[in-house]
Amino acid sequence: MSDLDPETRKTLRPRTRLVYAGRKPEEQFGYVNTPIYRGSTVLSPTAADLRRGDARFTYGTEGTPTTEALETAWSELAGAAGTVLVPTGLAAIALALMTALSAGDHLLVTDSAYRPTRRFCDGYLKRMNVETEYYDPTLGAGVATLMRPNTRAILVEAPGSQTFEMQDVPAIADVAHAHGACVIMDNTWATPLFFPPHARGVDLAIEAGTKYLSGHSDLMLGLVSANEAWNGRLRETYGLFAMNAGPEDCFLALRGLRTLELRLREAERQGLAMANWFMTRPEVKDVLHPALPHDPGHAIWKRDFLGSSGLFSVILHPVSQAAVDAFLDSLQLFGMGYSWGGYESLVIPFDCSRYRTATHWSPGGPGLRFQIGLEDVADLQADLERAFAVMVEAAGK
Ligand SMILES: *Cc1c(COP(=O)(O)O)cnc(C)c1O
Repeated sequence: MSDLDPETRKTLRPRTRLVYAGRKPEEQFGYVNTPIYRGSTVLSPTAADLRRGDARFTYGTEGTPTTEALETAWSELAGAAGTVLVPTGLAAIALALMTALSAGDHLLVTDSAYRPTRRFCDGYLKRMNVETEYYDPTLGAGVATLMRPNTRAILVEAPGSQTFEMQDVPAIADVAHAHGACVIMDNTWATPLFFPPHARGVDLAIEAGTKYLSGHSDLMLGLVSANEAWNGRLRETYGLFAMNAGPEDCFLALRGLRTLELRLREAERQGLAMANWFMTRPEVKDVLHPALPHDPGHAIWKRDFLGSSGLFSVILHPVSQAAVDAFLDSLQLFGMGYSWGGYESLVIPFDCSRYRTATHWSPGGPGLRFQIGLEDVADLQADLERAFAVMVEAAGK
């Protein structure tokens, strides 16, 4: 077997790319996978080497072969100039914001953002004298009206957490760049496989590796990738905080990476099968899923995205809280819990009307967010059918 030359590497399709990305068997005695390197101290062979300080690995916070393998692979996948690895997705969001912002800056954040992102902005960034303004996720190029001389970053998330609004990321990026502002995107839902962030104008892209990259609900990890313009600043800020991800988690993420395309394609298939099934149910008022033709964000999704994942929301026709609880409690195959992207199906009720500030959330019925796992959809549908019957009975009491 000869080495992959750089030209061939560029032509590889995503599935093949994921098999080869970040691997260097010749540096690991031929072993296919880079093992877990645990370590703080790296010994220097001579005083002259130590003084020159140009060794490939120098100290635990500066990276290991394991972290380098994952960073390299993710950069290749995301079309990024560089990637850094942090312990959680939320830490990735915090790091991206701290990379782009300074005291006195103005920040625009989509009203549909992951809720802990809001808490970071309203708590920590406020204390650091950064002003956060929330905007309607569907504004697109209209964000131009919100730009101020000190607007240094715009945070986008598409589709939105829980509510699944699509955002016109290229149009927002054009506005941001005309003002010299940084575009930060939480790209966890699509992953770079279904939305190549940097090719669409994103400067700093965040992935909660906890979700699809892990794929097994057994690790927490965050990744921030940067384009050429922001890579230096990202790496510098990362080094200052030394917010490094642990070696076992990086190893598990590399293992997940090899099957990411297969699992995501299956999540898309399963998710669409379930979303379409929900559309036929009399208990369901609406399904919020950008790959469904009736969805308000469908045209943008079709233009910019290469696929959809297995996370979407369902709005029920108005029914009592007790009836919704009876539905949730009688499900046997859907766990109730946070996170998603694993092999198992999940559901959580949500209501974001209490904390939204730029838009009014009133879908006209209870909201449930579903993560569709790898179970047989016929079994999932049978489980839901049983639970809907329990809900209807409880509603009639
Ligand atoms: C889960 C999630 C995060 C945070 O990831 P953690 O690893 O749980 O901190 C960020 N953004 C989105 C959209 C998420 O769903």
